[in-house]
Amino acid sequence: MKIYIDGQLLDEKDAKISVFDHGLLYGDGVFEGIRIYSGRVFRLTEHLKRLYACARAISLNIPITFEEMERATVETVAANGLRDGYIRLVVTRGVGTLGLDPNRCPKPSVIIIAAGIKLYPQEAYDHGLKLITCATRRPAPAALSPQVKSLNYLNNVMAKIECLQAGCDEGIMLNEQGYVAECTGDNVFIIKNGEVYTPTISSGALDGITRRAVMELLNKMSIPCHEVMMTRFDVYTADECFLTGTAAEALPAVMLDTRPIGSGKPGPTTLKIIEAFKVLANSEGSPVPYKE
Ligand code: PMP
Repeated sequence: MKIYIDGQLLDEKDAKISVFDHGLLYGDGVFEGIRIYSGRVFRLTEHLKRLYACARAISLNIPITFEEMERATVETVAANGLRDGYIRLVVTRGVGTLGLDPNRCPKPSVIIIAAGIKLYPQEAYDHGLKLITCATRRPAPAALSPQVKSLNYLNNVMAKIECLQAGCDEGIMLNEQGYVAECTGDNVFIIKNGEVYTPTISSGALDGITRRAVMELLNKMSIPCHEVMMTRFDVYTADECFLTGTAAEALPAVMLDTRPIGSGKPGPTTLKIIEAFKVLANSEGSPVPYKE
């Protein structure tokens, strides 16, 4: 596997960063997860826009331009000959000293890994995920904006541990006020009486690229979709529930806190959306210039 670090494509065994990198020492940096479907990078521009926005929000100057990042991303995919897979793009604050001061880190580092991913087994798509409500809340915007996809994912990791300990695959995270925000690594949608609802971004959800793609699909399918302040009542009493994320795509959730959602099986609208997303993902995107 070839890994891009700061302008060079290195063999996996040589792809190393310093122990003084503030990404490691403080989780100081940002990242993106992007998919490759049928030799095309899905919504690369949108992912890079979010990456650059998140970097700006934490005063991190990405050392290469948007166009250079675009090129580096597709070149890394091409170098690995991947036609389907997952790209992890990381920008760290770079090498500094054993102190918080980011001004001691003169050069941020850019890392691009292109590999395979399989987050959930097929069974999860066929039968749906079981969720719990996590005790760990999404951070308040005044602490760390939930919109920043930063290298500090400890909040989500703690919530994921809760899910796994409860024998569940994912969990709903509430915001400080107790409204539903999202899941540990996915956005959440519910369906009631033929209409779709998802928490507002200001509820503490990440502005998911898959979330947006699904909202566009719903619009095309003439299924109303509303961004709302959502409570657990809404999920408990929903007819269907599904999650969205780059790695997970769209997948059904059938239980929350041991209570079945609707019939307790993936619902018809959810299945339609999953299918429509698959078609979309395999039919658009930036083509990768493979060297044959
Ligand atoms: N919420 C969180 C906390 C995430 O980390 C992610 C990405 N894995 C998502 C939602 C989904 O966003 P996207 O569709 O852009 O991958």
